[in-house]
Amino acid sequence: MQELTHYIDGAHVKGTSGRFADVFNPATGEVQTRVPLAGTDEMERAVEVARKAQPGWAATNPQRRARVMMKFVQLLNRDMDKLAEALSREHGKTLPDAAGDVQRGLEVVEFCIGAPHHLKGEFTDSAGPGIDMYSMKQPLGVTAGITPFNFPAMIPMWMFAPAIVCGNAFILKPSERDPSVPLMLAELMEEAGLPKGILQVVNGDKEAVDAILHNEVVQSVGFVGSTPIAEYIYATGCANGKRVQCFGGAKNHMIIMPDADMDQAADALVGAGYGAAGERCMAISVAVPVGDDTADRLIEKLAPRVEALKVGPYTSGNDVDYGPVVTAAAKGNIERLVQSGIDQGAKLVVDGRNFSLQGYEDGFFVGAHLFDNVTTDMEIYRKEIFGPVLSTVRAQTYEEALGMAMDHEYGNGTAIFTRDGDTARDFASRVNVGMVGVNVPIPVPLAYHTFGGWKKSMFGDLNQHGPDSFKFYTRTKTITSRWPSGIKEGGEFSIPVME
Ligand code: NAD
Repeated sequence: MQELTHYIDGAHVKGTSGRFADVFNPATGEVQTRVPLAGTDEMERAVEVARKAQPGWAATNPQRRARVMMKFVQLLNRDMDKLAEALSREHGKTLPDAAGDVQRGLEVVEFCIGAPHHLKGEFTDSAGPGIDMYSMKQPLGVTAGITPFNFPAMIPMWMFAPAIVCGNAFILKPSERDPSVPLMLAELMEEAGLPKGILQVVNGDKEAVDAILHNEVVQSVGFVGSTPIAEYIYATGCANGKRVQCFGGAKNHMIIMPDADMDQAADALVGAGYGAAGERCMAISVAVPVGDDTADRLIEKLAPRVEALKVGPYTSGNDVDYGPVVTAAAKGNIERLVQSGIDQGAKLVVDGRNFSLQGYEDGFFVGAHLFDNVTTDMEIYRKEIFGPVLSTVRAQTYEEALGMAMDHEYGNGTAIFTRDGDTARDFASRVNVGMVGVNVPIPVPLAYHTFGGWKKSMFGDLNQHGPDSFKFYTRTKTITSRWPSGIKEGGEFSIPVME
């Protein structure tokens, strides 16, 4: 069986811990390769390589660092199809969606090309008599990131592009479920001109993560994944004196007002609820129609659309709306939660149970499910399902709908569909959620804005990409400077004498 490697000091390096994880093709259920799980010593070696390489990179002027990013963008475009195919094969998402995953990361790299501008400091002339004051933004040193399975291209690039362009070295610990694309990205960065040791990929699980968290050389840790792990990494990283940003799970509500265009809302919900099999942290998993009449009209429009969704392997081309979920365990968890919804009294309007695809019976496919009459005490409402399951919770008033989004423990994204500007404005202003869509179901900010949720969806201060990323990956140093007054009168031509 093919065996993946780590990428350390500019080379593919075999794992030495003797521990491995299986990497599946979710469409067939077959193990297609295995990935080494690093031990503490392997992580320490990568950190040591990074520590030695980083000062030279930090001393490279920002324009040259940005040129590596420019070249990297070209290479990503050159290899787009190859990257998307490798991504779909391990993750299961459709090819256009996989290309979108690469593209959204690429856009962060494009933003990072502006580093020479973003890294400029401030300057005050004559802050006091003969005194100037200025600030510099300097890299942290060795930085690290731990990423989830659901965006194996975009999320590593969210982190390593700004970290590296700021002059840091970066160690990526990608998800063990789909590690091939992160390894390909590291190779492309070096082809783009990045010196060895500045971007390394160390594959692994908790042991590799703990080796990052307890390594004194590592200055910052970025994490994206589920909330319990985000809390653990935030607490441990902070206790060890590191700069930490952790992004967790989600339960995104979409509120549908009585005046919304119901066709538009239903179209938005099928894309946002079922795209990528619901395995997106910005997926809409809860629809909140306001008023029973709105709810009835919505379900009437939604049910046939959900029933018509085409589920299949990425190899079927553009004919498929979504693919399998990532593992058999994820499928089992979704099925268990669907059953709990039924047991707790929700109405299963579209039943995706027992979905099977001829020729792919062992794949991790889950049919599309639509629930109505979900209540806020049910497990399917409280928990993140991360699958193709949309729950409809009926609200009687706008305030009740707003209150649901506000009272939920997660606060990643939310949306409102309405034709009324006043309601939309009130919602955007009052809701305690980090990213808000007005008639836009998945309001993922573009690379030059910042991405981040509130409440249990985010731990830390600074968001991903945009100007925040330059703050996260640099330290500010402020210099107050006065020079003794020098000779201003010109040269002395007569011999100096003691008077
Ligand atoms: P996960 O938490 O299982 O894994 C994320 C990373 O943490 C992986 O690299 C994994 O190896 C590592 N990890 C797992 N268990 C660990 C442990 N006990 N100790 C230390 N490290 C550990 O998440 P996932 O299943 O890969 O991704 C799905 C989750 O990520 C969902 O909850 C989703 O909402 C969330 N997510 C959030 C965002 C966001 O921006 N808020 C974006 C994408 C995904």
